[in-house]
Amino acid sequence: MEMERLVKVIANSGYTSRRKAEELISSGKVMVNGIVAVTGQKIDGNDIVTIDGKEITMDNGNYEYFLLNKPRGVITSSSDEVGRKTVVDLVKTNKRIYPVGRLDYDTTGALLLTNDGNITNLLTHPKNEIEKKYLAKLEGILDMESLNKLKKGIKIDGILAVPDRVKIRSIDKKKNTCLVEIVLHEGRNHEVKKLFEAVGYSVIRLTRVTFAGLNVKDLKSGEYRKLSIKEVQRLYSLIKK
Ligand code: URA
Repeated sequence: MEMERLVKVIANSGYTSRRKAEELISSGKVMVNGIVAVTGQKIDGNDIVTIDGKEITMDNGNYEYFLLNKPRGVITSSSDEVGRKTVVDLVKTNKRIYPVGRLDYDTTGALLLTNDGNITNLLTHPKNEIEKKYLAKLEGILDMESLNKLKKGIKIDGILAVPDRVKIRSIDKKKNTCLVEIVLHEGRNHEVKKLFEAVGYSVIRLTRVTFAGLNVKDLKSGEYRKLSIKEVQRLYSLIKK
């Protein structure tokens, strides 16, 4: 292993996120070869890294990648303070996997889980513009003016969000609902709900149909499967240099 930033090594080991790794380093909990680590430190494969006295696995060549069809009522996290079921609880593995990005508690659909911190960082980085396709069931029937507003883009929390595609898929006049397909390349929290709310519609059901081109149509709610090597290679090929 070449010299690498300690935060990156910790994140890639699956121990925690880069941000939390940074916090751990500055709080003095991380040691390299028995000496308290410092911010910005670089290490190589011969160094022994411990966090709270426990050694972390550095060269994790044993990566696992799962595609889950997330059910409703499960949180996208690896642990929950109040003991709610998490997406990680649904996948049987002895690896320390975690979700790539997040879906809301009540959102269903495609969610990737892995212990490969590198792909997680790359797929969630905005510069890589990873495509996510959603189907949103709305209360009310989306009018043309709102549809056009959405197509042009809407400011959310001060930043313009422009969907790649918005399309009405079906209308239920009796129930006064409609199903809208929306494709985004960002991954901001509650982005779909906020976009529709901004034009006056509430989302009553939300499903992510595809994430980075991976779809869950062959997986029942709560089911998951491992990705093939080819699929993982394709994910890496989506990364912008
Ligand atoms: N946008 C949302 O509003 N919720 C999700 O879960 C995902 C995208």
